[in-house]
Amino acid sequence: MHQYKGKLIVHTGSMFSGKTSSLEKDVKRFNIAGYKTIAFKPSIDNRYRKNEIVTHDLTSMDCILVNDIDELLDYVDELEPDVIGIDEVQFLKGPVDRIISGIYKLLNKDITVVVAGLDMDYTGTPFEIVKELMPIADYLYKHHAVCIKCGNDAWVSHRKSKDTERIKIGAINEYEPLCRKCFLEEKSKTE
Ligand SMILES: [Zn+2]
Repeated sequence: MHQYKGKLIVHTGSMFSGKTSSLEKDVKRFNIAGYKTIAFKPSIDNRYRKNEIVTHDLTSMDCILVNDIDELLDYVDELEPDVIGIDEVQFLKGPVDRIISGIYKLLNKDITVVVAGLDMDYTGTPFEIVKELMPIADYLYKHHAVCIKCGNDAWVSHRKSKDTERIKIGAINEYEPLCRKCFLEEKSKTE
């Protein structure tokens, strides 16, 4: 049961691209194979129910809410999993280098880490932590939603309201997946 150890698997892309579903599928797959698995989620993401990872299509998986990587590492020391999932990694608090060194600690303990996170915020600016995780991943998957204007692969989660704070939790009523071309068109209309 230990052939698959110490690997970093990263699922990224826009909202509604299936990142969380892919993370769930990976974690469940390892669990069925007899690995001890734990899923974590930053506590800021309180959409839907607490203590469950819920995808936009409303499937769910139990998870532990954490504020930062240190809290996550404490749980891992205590529970000694073989595989962990971290959903919405862009919402973990604390400095990026601390998160990265925490993830290296896990990998060095032969724990496989499956991560899902948004590549960019609603303005098309990369999330630092995901930007740092992508090159060091053993397996990297970029997922795409469908552009709601033209049906191309989407590129960004465009925010429909005028709010400008970077982190604003919301589902399909707050954001729409757009391809780069439609996003730029939309942006030029509002400027
Ligand atoms: Zn489009």
